[in-house]
Amino acid sequence: MAADVIRIRGLAKTYVMGTNEVHALDGIDLTITQGEMVAVMGASGSGKSTMMNMLGCLDKPTSGSYELDGERVEVMDRNQLADLRNRRIGFVFQGFNLLARTSALENVELPMMYERSRKKDVRDAAMKALARVGLAERTHHLPNELSGGQQQRVAIARALVTEPALLLADEPTGNLDSRTSVEVLALFQELNDNGLTVVMVTHEDNIAHYAKRIVELRDGRIVRDEPVSPRGNAAADLAAIDARRKGNA
Ligand code: ADP
Ligand code: MG
Repeated sequence: MAADVIRIRGLAKTYVMGTNEVHALDGIDLTITQGEMVAVMGASGSGKSTMMNMLGCLDKPTSGSYELDGERVEVMDRNQLADLRNRRIGFVFQGFNLLARTSALENVELPMMYERSRKKDVRDAAMKALARVGLAERTHHLPNELSGGQQQRVAIARALVTEPALLLADEPTGNLDSRTSVEVLALFQELNDNGLTVVMVTHEDNIAHYAKRIVELRDGRIVRDEPVSPRGNAAADLAAIDARRKGNA
């Protein structure tokens, strides 16, 4: 049996706005085991970002419990949360969030700078992470010398360098064209095939169908939680897109 990476019970997050209460999350039960690939969907305002903030230990719930990789999150203070985050979670954002005048390699080294690792170990880990995302030849390029898809792959390498238990991606293809989106999903599927647990927020069905499971939120509650069938194969779709383009050229 695969271990639970995420165990959430009765999770609620309430925002108080003057005399108004907004139940951004309203009693969530969710278990995600090692090796799953989950797409979190839902209309604007349904609670997706709040959910990602909870999963990512960026914020604490109003009530309920959350265990990440066996550690109880809701009892931790800010420093403990930051430490857990650095050790166990890799983040990928819509806008890549790379440092501009900094090479791909140095961007990927950043998350390890908080640890007291030897410089050579940091460099080796960053090189390995860049190789995993197919960018071993681009280590000294600056972000503006890379395509959008390559920049997102640098960001994914940065997320992987600490060997997290969980990859969290918030609209990872939101700034990418459709071919590059499929390319990024092919990488997620490959990493997932090798055991990485992936949770991504997307509002696009044609991205969500590459996940193994879809969880849909409405008004802070889970209204759908089901396996994806048939599941898309992003590498095959990418090859088909490229073959079609070659045929048209
Ligand atoms: P989504 O990401 O699905 O669009 P959010 O999680 O951002 O949804 O928001 C869920 C609900 O919580 C919305 O009604 C939103 O207005 C409210 N909300 C989110 N963040 C805050 C906040 N910091 N303060 C007050 N209300 C918030
Ligand atoms: Mg949002």
